[in-house]
Amino acid sequence: MTKSLAILLVEDSEGDALLISRRIQRAGYDLTFKRVDTADTMLAALGERSWDVILSDYVMPNFSAPAALKVLKNSGLDLPFIVVSGAIGEDTAVAIMRAGAHDYLMKDNLARLVPAIEREIHEAINRRNHRRAEALSMRLGRMLDNSSNEIYVFDAVTFQFIQANHGACNNLGYSQEELLERSPLDLQPEMDYQKFATLIAPLYAQEREQVVFETVQRRRNGSTYPIEVRLTLSRSENPPVFVAIALDITERKRSESALVFMAEASTVLAETLDYETTFQSITRLAVSYLADVCVIDVIEADGTIRRVAESHNDQVKQELVDRLSEESITSVRWPHPVIEVVEAGRSFVSSKIANDELPASVQDDAYQKLLVELSAASYMAVPLTLRGETLGIVSFISTDENRLYSQSDVAIAEELARRAAVAIENARLYQEAQQALRLRDQFLSIAAHELKTPLTALLGNTQLIQRRIARTHTFTERDQRVLQVINQQSQRLSRMVEALLDISRIRGGTLSIERTSVDLSALAERLVDEVQPSLERHSIEIHIPNSPVMVTGDALRLEQVFQNIIQNAIKYTPQGGKIALEITREGDQACVAVTDPGIGIPSKALPNLFRQFYRAGNAQSHHIAGMGLGLYVVREIVALHNGRVEVESTEGEGSTFLVYLPLIRDSLGVGSQSNKTPTRTNGKGPDNSRDNDARQSASAQRTA
Ligand code: ADP
Repeated sequence: MTKSLAILLVEDSEGDALLISRRIQRAGYDLTFKRVDTADTMLAALGERSWDVILSDYVMPNFSAPAALKVLKNSGLDLPFIVVSGAIGEDTAVAIMRAGAHDYLMKDNLARLVPAIEREIHEAINRRNHRRAEALSMRLGRMLDNSSNEIYVFDAVTFQFIQANHGACNNLGYSQEELLERSPLDLQPEMDYQKFATLIAPLYAQEREQVVFETVQRRRNGSTYPIEVRLTLSRSENPPVFVAIALDITERKRSESALVFMAEASTVLAETLDYETTFQSITRLAVSYLADVCVIDVIEADGTIRRVAESHNDQVKQELVDRLSEESITSVRWPHPVIEVVEAGRSFVSSKIANDELPASVQDDAYQKLLVELSAASYMAVPLTLRGETLGIVSFISTDENRLYSQSDVAIAEELARRAAVAIENARLYQEAQQALRLRDQFLSIAAHELKTPLTALLGNTQLIQRRIARTHTFTERDQRVLQVINQQSQRLSRMVEALLDISRIRGGTLSIERTSVDLSALAERLVDEVQPSLERHSIEIHIPNSPVMVTGDALRLEQVFQNIIQNAIKYTPQGGKIALEITREGDQACVAVTDPGIGIPSKALPNLFRQFYRAGNAQSHHIAGMGLGLYVVREIVALHNGRVEVESTEGEGSTFLVYLPLIRDSLGVGSQSNKTPTRTNGKGPDNSRDNDARQSASAQRTA
């Protein structure tokens, strides 16, 4: 293979130039050459192309080797410069070599020419590579120095730092000089000599090229951060040194612990099936991973905020956390961060409480002051949202300067809140299912018990009357009474079965009413007339307006409503007495009030009265039978008539049940402005001294 060679010949003699070129070509080179013999032509030639070597005569009429060497130096090029001349003195030869020529040859002995050219070209390449390597290493040095990774070089025996890059100084807050007085053991609180010796043993033993470990590093200001260290032992240095590259892994650690946190949260939340435990589990989990204090507030139906769970670590004073509840809930001043989160349905984060702050609106709030007292470093609050509705808010407080909340923490907190909301929903569904099961069991036991009593009476009495008639073949007045009992018990049984059927209709949504015009006064009068004769210890007074009280509705269903209420009034007045039924007009409403002087209803039972199977404690303690279904059905029927039921009662004094139904417009006429309508009565007027405080609205119950 022919090798190419480009030679710039500084030579005045054409003949010598030819001689030289031939010798080179003979050595197998594909030669490009140019002859120049002045400074200007040489300079121009240098600029024309790149040359591998310069061969220069020593003395020329208009030029010389020293002058050519100067031209080369000024050009900044590093090319082999070989002097090829006639005889010159030794001093001259030494001088030109000192001036920078790489070799010196005689024209009459060119045997060394080609080897000299080859050697010098090789040397020049070496020089160039070396220069490049040096430049590269300087560039790398600068890059390493400016890297945000911390790079340390420290003595392999004393461990004292020899060098540290800017990244290390910046991250730690020490100057280079300060660092050089220290060793890694001074910076790493979790590392002691023994541990470190064990770590580096495989490097000393040359078993491994590098060891990688995680530890914690302490800044000049005392704060700490996790690092991953890659350590190598450099034996080429004398004495040997360790080179350590440390990477701040705060973010990595965070995401790792977020993953663990979420996994654990999912497990814990999946295990809990009631609200209280779910809330408590969330705060406990948050305190082990994300916060020093975690509290959950929920928004009640009336808009107030209630603290439902809180956890805090041992360093935080319980008294302050208690006050956190008080300050945030009882002395809520608007606007409040909790309320702001709820209103906006958006998370809120105050990364560093001392600097950036809670919204300006709450700057002077007691809550803000308390956060400062708690030495809260960072605060965030996320909404607890279910199907677009904000149920509450989870607040996190960090008292650790090393844990200032960022958007990534907010994302974790939001994810936790999202999973918690799902868990709460599951807990709610579970409770509903449990409640349904309880209701079913309750129903079976009540129905069995309640149906059994009249059935036993029926059976006993029919057998009794059968036996006697068989024996005497007569029908006495006593038998008449037994038949009356049979009749009463049958009716009771029938009412219960009806009530059960109604319940199943209500549940199935098939309880419907026929709408006709009904005169409530006439209906009430008929009812009372029917009931009155069977009463022994009770009497019913009726007070109704002179004119018909017309409503739209189902006469049979309305009769069922008033039957139920009247029967209750009788049943819950076991000692006997006067029961009053009064009908009045109140604005566009008709009001039917049934008042009894019976056992009354304990105030704490009032809110539950219209629930299925609910019975007040005193009904049971007076041994008055019942299934707790009547009022539930009453309320449903009245609601289907667009009306409402209310109850006023004082335990031990008696009760009044009030049914309000919309009047037909045309019948609003006479006396419809007030309840002072003249009334017809069949006895004494009702006792109007009702305890208004005890009034409970059934329709209010339903909406609550
Ligand atoms: P039941 O009478 O079969 O128990 P209801 O649904 O009719 O069921 O009534 C529910 C509860 O309301 C009763 O168990 C009782 O505690 C209370 N109650 C209803 N009416 C009266 C009344 N007039 N006086 C006192 N308590 C009553």
